[in-house]
Amino acid sequence: MRAICCAAAVVTSVALSAGAPPVAPVIYRVSFPAPEHRFAQVEVTFPNVSGPLQARMSRSSPGRYAVHEFAKNVYDVHTFDGRGRELQASRPNPYQWDVPAHDGTVRVTYKVYGDHVDGTYLGIDTTHAHMNLPATLMWARGFDDRAVRITFVPPDGLNWKPATQLFTTGDPWTFTAPNLQYLFDSPTELSAYTLRQFTVNNPDGKTFAIRTAVHADASAQEIDQYAAGVEKIVNEARAVFGEFPQYDTGTYTFLADYLPWDDGDGMEHRNSTVVTGRSLRGALGTASHEFFHCWNVERIRPQGLEPFNFEEANLTDSLWLAEGFTQYYGGLIMGRAGFSDRQRTIDEFAQSANAVVNGSGRQFRSAVEMSHMAPFVDAARSVDRTNFRTTFISYYTYGAAVALGLDLSLRDRTNGKITLDDFMRAMWNAHGKPGGPQPGLVGKPYSLTDVRDRLAEVSGDRPFADQFVTRYISGREVVDYGPLLQRAGIVMKPRNAGAAWAGDLSFSQQSTTIANLIAPGTPAYDAGLEQDDVITAVDGKSVNTPQQIQEAIRGRKPGDRITIAFTRRSGPVTTTLTLKEDPSFAFEPVERSGGTFTADQKAFRDAWLGSQIKSGFPRF
Ligand SMILES: [Zn+2]
Repeated sequence: MRAICCAAAVVTSVALSAGAPPVAPVIYRVSFPAPEHRFAQVEVTFPNVSGPLQARMSRSSPGRYAVHEFAKNVYDVHTFDGRGRELQASRPNPYQWDVPAHDGTVRVTYKVYGDHVDGTYLGIDTTHAHMNLPATLMWARGFDDRAVRITFVPPDGLNWKPATQLFTTGDPWTFTAPNLQYLFDSPTELSAYTLRQFTVNNPDGKTFAIRTAVHADASAQEIDQYAAGVEKIVNEARAVFGEFPQYDTGTYTFLADYLPWDDGDGMEHRNSTVVTGRSLRGALGTASHEFFHCWNVERIRPQGLEPFNFEEANLTDSLWLAEGFTQYYGGLIMGRAGFSDRQRTIDEFAQSANAVVNGSGRQFRSAVEMSHMAPFVDAARSVDRTNFRTTFISYYTYGAAVALGLDLSLRDRTNGKITLDDFMRAMWNAHGKPGGPQPGLVGKPYSLTDVRDRLAEVSGDRPFADQFVTRYISGREVVDYGPLLQRAGIVMKPRNAGAAWAGDLSFSQQSTTIANLIAPGTPAYDAGLEQDDVITAVDGKSVNTPQQIQEAIRGRKPGDRITIAFTRRSGPVTTTLTLKEDPSFAFEPVERSGGTFTADQKAFRDAWLGSQIKSGFPRF
């Protein structure tokens, strides 16, 4: 234990007797002395430090699952004590600065460079400071529960203003956060953005302001259209859950950054989201997905992400639900709000279902195991080749296909009385709504067992719930979509009936070199073909272009055998490939395929894909 000075000791004892230790907040000051050079000058003061200070840059960021080395852009680091004397810091590892000796206060100053606009990194230029705080701010071990006070100092003359979910103070440039988890969940945009806002109500009478802070190369009319679209989406999303979460600051903000040099992204947070891309056109789909997250993942939170560990990658069983169900609802809500027509909505569903039913990844990994891959696939970089293309299916896609199967199964077995919306509400009531001890913390994160239990409660049928989870979520089976879709008057049919198919083959640059990994279970795989093999002849006829190979296959029927000559690293090879029928399928409204669309089917389809904002349901 280190001794602390008398004044601090007195204060401590007084406050302890009052029941609450006075812990001074961590103070940040973030300025932009030369935004054209794309760095921030950061100053952070850690008060009441006992023992060596271990200051760190994060290696991960909530909602992004690969490890990111945010320390790499930090430079010009200095450490001082409470009286301004420079201290020595050591580097025990690449992410950490240790200050062993000090007077109880340590001030760290550094520069951090950033030129990447999305939901994960830091982007500074003369138009804005677009900050994901884990990419921007140093923190210290043992200070997780300390309150934070942060002041941004904008450059002169650029008319910037702040947009953030941080708690406001009397000073428009100073904000607070109750703890590190909340601070790092609070992306902040400083720019001359355009603000629109509307008010929503909860059944208990509480009102919240939903804001769009748009920094974009867009006209006022385009920004108005975007805000109006967001309002429709927000109300459809609310209809799924029956209420909005208690936004901690009374507001929810879409931090929308759409500029030609931005990366396309959407990142969810408790009371805000960062949505980015090159153009505001077509941006509502991202808003729909991200807003659903303010329930699903931000409050209905899987174990493994709570609390978020900023020192390493975070692993959870449930990204098929956290991301995949959000993906399903993102599209469904776009349809319900009138931004995509029925055909487009069911085409998206068919895409997810195809990817899972026909994806070879399912032979090797379940939805749960796909979730475990997140640290390697979510904005992860690898130098060596991987075979993820044939062994992995995105948990977004996988989860969307599971959601489709579960929604239709629940509707089918109850004649539409119970739906996936009921399941989401059950998850909300048990795991999201109870909240946490402080803003930024979730008290009841869920496990896979909780998912099973909520499904058993909602369906009133434990064997159904157990089977569904065992077969389709922890197991590798797929829902039989055909009969379920019939209930909605949708036909599942082959996309290319009778067409001969060799498997998924692509070729590099007008050559006959196979460019992609070959999926197990396809004719090409069984014939022993693989990436980098160079096809030289089909049925004895030499080929030089991908078109010649396609033509040779096009004239054939499923079941036909063709001879393929190719060269590979070890030399020339000849093989026989047995063609199959293309297994891909489409979803088509029965009325479009000449069938009868019954009144029951219409009612089922409308209840599922139509707006959920009922008459009598207040529309704000
Ligand atoms: Zn998401």
